[in-house]
Formats: sequence, C-alpha cells, structure tokens
Amino acid sequence: KHAAKIRLDTVKQDHGREKDKADRATSELVLDQRTRMILLQMINRGLLSEVHGAISTGKEANVYGAVLFPTDESAPVQRAIKIYKTAILVFKDRERYITGEHRFKAGADKGNNRKMVKLWAEKEFRNLRRLHAAGIACPEPLVLKLHVLVMEFLGDRRGYAFPRLRDARLTGEDVEDQWRNLYIQLLGIMRRLYQVCSLVHADLSEYNILYNDKQLYIIDVSQSVEHDHPRALEFLRMDIKNISGYFRREGVNILAERAVFNFITA
Ligand code: ADP
Ligand code: MN
Repeated sequence: KHAAKIRLDTVKQDHGREKDKADRATSELVLDQRTRMILLQMINRGLLSEVHGAISTGKEANVYGAVLFPTDESAPVQRAIKIYKTAILVFKDRERYITGEHRFKAGADKGNNRKMVKLWAEKEFRNLRRLHAAGIACPEPLVLKLHVLVMEFLGDRRGYAFPRLRDARLTGEDVEDQWRNLYIQLLGIMRRLYQVCSLVHADLSEYNILYNDKQLYIIDVSQSVEHDHPRALEFLRMDIKNISGYFRREGVNILAERAVFNFITA
C-alpha cells in the first residue's frame, strides 16, 4: 500500500528545473492547516495518493501535481490540483468579473475571503464542466472541496505538464501552416465557448492555453462570464485583441478583429 504523502520539498517545473527558495516558500504558504486537511481527506478517500510540488505559483492560485495509484494495480494516474489563495489583495482585481454576474449573487460576500475564494473555485469547476461537456479540450474537473479543485492533469505520463502556448515549440517544415491551423482552431473554440457554453473566457491569452501535438487546451476559467454579463462583450473584444496580437506576432495572417467578433457571436 502506498503511504499517504504530501511532499513539497521537490518543486519540479519546466522539465526538471528546480524553483528557487523564494518561490518554494510561496508555494508552501498556501498550504495552511485547512488546506492540508482537505488534501489528507482526499488521500484517505482514495481520490489521490500523493501530492507533489507546484507546477505553477500564481497570484491567485497555485497548481500542484498529484498522482493516484489505483487500488486495482492499474497504471498510476496524474492529477492537477488548483488551490486558490485566500489573501485579501487578490480579490480587488476580480471585482469587475463578479459585479453583474448573476451566478454570484447568492453567497457573494465581498468581506468574507474564505467564502469568496470558495466561490471562485466553484466557478472554475462549473465552467470547466461546461467546457468539458461541450467537447472543448480542457482539464476535466474531478473533485471540488472548498478552495481546492482536483482536475485532469494535462501532460505526459511522467508528470510533465504540457507547455503553455506561449512556450510551445512547433517543429517541422509546415510550421507556418501549423500556426495558421492553431489560430483557426482557437477561433472555433471561442465560438463554441460562446455559442454552446454561453461563456466568454475573459482572460484568454497564450498563457491560459496549453499546447500538445497540434491540440490547444483551454485552462483558467474561474473569471469566465456568462454572455449576458453586462461586460461580456467588452471582455470578448479584449480576448480577441489578445489572441489576435499573439498570432500576428507569430506571423499568422489574421482576420480583422471585427470579423472574428461576428464569427464568434453570430
Ligand atoms: P493562474 O490563475 O495561476 O493563472 P492557471 O489555471 O492558469 O492558474 O494555471 C497556472 C499554470 O498551471 C498553467 O499555466 C499551467 O502551466 C499549469 N496548469 C494548470 N492546470 C493544469 C492542468 N490541468 N494540467 C497541467 N498543468 C496545469
Ligand atoms: Mn492562468
């Protein structure tokens, strides 16, 4: 039997590079007593076997790698765990996404951080569910407990996460075509997100898209809004601007932002 373990000493990222001490300290900070309890509970329930080092330490959340050793001796399964931070400063930024979001009305209490952070995690969980149900490539959401979200790990069997689109290295003689295809693929995803999921990502960029083998994966949807949110179309224009700028810099002959907007919303 595999012993329950929460290991934070080896913080692996970017194909084995060790993170420096300062980053390690930050990643440990988020694991307060309550968070540890939640993780231990998940381990006891057989949802996880080990929690490993941080894949990413962000302003609002840290993402950790984890592994589940199935009891039937089948191959270990990688997981990703996003743990939202309960620090106050983080939420100032997020106000504009909450105001006007009807799913937030019940239970939104801007003075209560723990409650807010739980709502963010819930929102990401529900949004991921919608994406997944609509067949948009994204991490499948698996378990949610307060501010701790367990999802499918997007990476290889050894536990290395797929790169962000920003860091992806495309190779081959048809690199130009590949970029063009990824651009088209992303427009299709944005349209589906809008038409089928009724959502606007609202923080879409090369940093919130993972890439592997010609496939784009959408992540980080906690701030995504319903398309009837008062600022949804403003956020959509911003998303279009971001990705247009990115693909233009990669040499793609992009469509006019107006045309993209019409394609997504029509
Ligand atoms: P943040 O709010 O900190 O930006 P993200 O959801 O964007 O959080 O995740 C941060 C990073 O963690 C991503 O850029 C990606 O590298 C990694 N990551 C997030 N989710 C997964 C996942 N399911 N599988 C593998 N890596 C992930
Ligand atoms: Mn992100």
